[in-house]
Amino acid sequence: YDDRDGHIWMDGKMVPWRDANVHVLTHALHYASAVFEGERAYNGTIFKSREHSERLLRSGQLIEAEIPYTVDQIEAAKAEVLKASGLKDAYVRVLAWRGSGEDMGVASQRNPVRMAVAAWEWGAYYGDAKMQGAKLDISKWKRPSPETIPSEAKAAGLYMICTMSKHAAEAKGCSDALMMDYRGYVAEATGANVFFVKDGKVHTPTPDCFLNGITRQTVIGMLRDRDVEVVERHIMAEELDGFEQCWLTGTAAEVTPVGQIGEHTFEVGALARMIAEDYEKVVRGET
Ligand code: PMP
Repeated sequence: YDDRDGHIWMDGKMVPWRDANVHVLTHALHYASAVFEGERAYNGTIFKSREHSERLLRSGQLIEAEIPYTVDQIEAAKAEVLKASGLKDAYVRVLAWRGSGEDMGVASQRNPVRMAVAAWEWGAYYGDAKMQGAKLDISKWKRPSPETIPSEAKAAGLYMICTMSKHAAEAKGCSDALMMDYRGYVAEATGANVFFVKDGKVHTPTPDCFLNGITRQTVIGMLRDRDVEVVERHIMAEELDGFEQCWLTGTAAEVTPVGQIGEHTFEVGALARMIAEDYEKVVRGET
């Protein structure tokens, strides 16, 4: 991703793509003191842009890396990047991190918090799986307790678990992994939240130790608008067998039906398909 034309916004300036570099003694590179956002623009407008900027600031506060920009300044930076990219449909990545500076130990207060924004084209996150239903592995790695790490932050440190889970899943020919939490409840996929359907009702895990995704919240609203009952609760691994349909939600993943998790299979049913199609209209402002 580093060798291409274009510009990246870095600390207030647009820099050529290939020059958007940091020093190897960057605090975040050693201790994961970074937070980020993944956003999608449709027809030139970022869906739920302010919500993403607000979450970025909150994530920064949660890991004690206060971001030196306001929501309006972040919005302006994203708009500038999107315009410079010439793209109408794009994935937008905002990253804030503790840079290099006085501190090289674990404490980082004396190092500046820096920010960058980049945009590029990113098609369907799960490729063909979008129509046929993605195949998921069950990860051996668990989402940690909120007493271990601020799990509501979209923080780089939390993604080590996701990367290892996804590597193991891909090695088994799956597109992603479903992770359980530290108590054994169903949590989320490595970059998306999960929903299940049983007897016309939708069930989704309570986000008490993982990201309460912006897409997740959008989809819950869409379902309730359509008078579909949505139950947020703790879901046990043993319950997977009883669900008829399943889908994932996330900015990159959008709404992707799931056909299989471990040994459990699901049909790509009418509700999963309807929500996937409706979501495409909602993000483009067509409904
Ligand atoms: N969980 C994880 C681990 C994620 O990385 C993402 C993507 N940001 C989500 C859930 C979904 O969040 P959102 O809908 O806000 O993109």
